[in-house]
Amino acid sequence: GDVLKKRKIAVLGSRSVGKSSLVVQFIENHFVESYYPTIEATFSKSINYKGVEYDCDIIDTAGQDEYTILNSKHAIGIHGYILVYSVTSRKSFDMIQVVYDKIIEFCGLNSIPCVIVGSKTDLQQRQVQATEGQELANNMHAAWVETSAKTNSNVVFELCLGEIEKRTPSSKAE
Ligand code: GDP
Repeated sequence: GDVLKKRKIAVLGSRSVGKSSLVVQFIENHFVESYYPTIEATFSKSINYKGVEYDCDIIDTAGQDEYTILNSKHAIGIHGYILVYSVTSRKSFDMIQVVYDKIIEFCGLNSIPCVIVGSKTDLQQRQVQATEGQELANNMHAAWVETSAKTNSNVVFELCLGEIEKRTPSSKAE
């Protein structure tokens, strides 16, 4: 039979932008009002994407700021990235470029398979416009989506697999 394709995805971004909530929504299909805030955790789930079953490890990181040194665990062996900001926080949006640059520098690459996610769209206090998110993602050759962890977050993870597969010739996809 077919061997499951393994994909490792890391979720990064400022603290409290909703990284854990997005991951929990994806893994367990519900929204958690308060979750463990700072602990890093890895979750596994298989995703069927375009008829192929992917065995995904999702690393939910504690969060980064401008002073954080990129953890090698968040670069080595990672197939794709989900970089999260909150649409209610300009500072968290600015942090996306900072984190992205650290990954690029660490990996020594021009670009990485990546999805930029604007979270908490259900809240009214918006500080970041959709067009700004799209523009940033265009510059990074990344996918982009806005979402709320209160709703199904599968699209975020499917987009990430899409970005990974785009850059992985199928003959080398194991
Ligand atoms: P993390 O530190 O980035 O993992 O952020 P969390 O997932 O722990 O979320 C931080 C806080 O924001 C928690 O109180 C969450 O319940 C809340 N939160 C996360 N995502 C959303 C969202 O999409 N909408 C709303 N209204 N609150 C959210």
